[in-house]
Formats: sequence, C-alpha cells, structure tokens
Amino acid sequence: MTTKALCSSNPELWFSTKNADKAKAVQICRACPLQDECAQYATDNRIRFGTWGGLTEAARRGRKPRLPKPPAVCGTQLAFWRHRSKRETCNTCEAWHAASVEADRRRRLENEHAKGGTKTGYQLHMRLKEQPCEPCREVNRVACERARQRRAAARSVA
Ligand code: SF4
Ligand SMILES: [Zn+2]
Ligand SMILES: [Zn+2]
Repeated sequence: MTTKALCSSNPELWFSTKNADKAKAVQICRACPLQDECAQYATDNRIRFGTWGGLTEAARRGRKPRLPKPPAVCGTQLAFWRHRSKRETCNTCEAWHAASVEADRRRRLENEHAKGGTKTGYQLHMRLKEQPCEPCREVNRVACERARQRRAAARSVA
C-alpha cells in the first residue's frame, strides 16, 4: 500500500494566504496519513510558508525543530565552536580563530600603548611573536630589575 499525500492534487490550497483556504487545508491534513511526518518535516526544516501536516505558518512558529540546526558556515565564530564541541578540526575555522585571537591581542596592545607601554603590552608583543616596542621593553626591564632586587633582598635576609 502506498500512502498518498492528500495535498498532491491541489497544491495551491496549501500555500494560499486566505484564511478560509488555510482552514480547509488544515482540515484535509488531519485525514492525511502523512500528517505527523509532514508537520515535523516543516518544523525541522524551518519552512516558513504554507500549511504542512495540519499546521499553518502561525501554528508552526512556536514549535521546536527536532533535528540539529543546519551546519554553520565555516570561517565564523559559530562554526569554530561547533567544531570544538564535536572535537573536529577544520582548517578554515582554525585559521579564522587564529586570526581573531591575533586581532584581539592587537586591540589589547593598543590599549596598553595608550597607557604609554606596559608589562602586559610587553607580554602581548611576545605572544604576537614580534619585537616589543621601546616603551613596553623599558617598563618590562624596570619591572624585571625590581623583581631581581626583591629576590636578592629576600635571599640576604634568609
Ligand atoms: S499532511 Fe502534509 S502531505 Fe498530508 S495533506 Fe497535509 S500537507 Fe499534504
Ligand atoms: Zn569549519
Ligand atoms: Zn609596546
């Protein structure tokens, strides 16, 4: 036995915007052997238009899809974290992530430079694998020197 969709003979009714047509389509769907499957399909695929499985567009709006969301486009934050959660490695998304980390470091470095060079700035230069600028290097040199003196003082007390 084949199950036949009751809408196959008159598709316009299922995509009509008239309320009377929608009501009629809903009524016919209720007798259709494919009703549940059809409603779920439209919900899962986020189909916006038409009456499916006895559900109008408005009726489907609140329903939650059962299937996982469609894959995110690679090279975006969403795709990168989806891969992470599934322990997948994707070159496009890894490259995107590396670039975004670098951009973030550059932005933070700018903030540090606005303060006139800092130890954090020095560390950011190092993470960016570049020669630290003079002000950051100087602040870091002084901080290291102070730390060295503190250690020496601590040793002489002990
Ligand atoms: S339930 Fe789906 S397949 Fe059946 S009549 Fe309605 S829209 Fe068509
Ligand atoms: Zn990807
Ligand atoms: Zn610097």
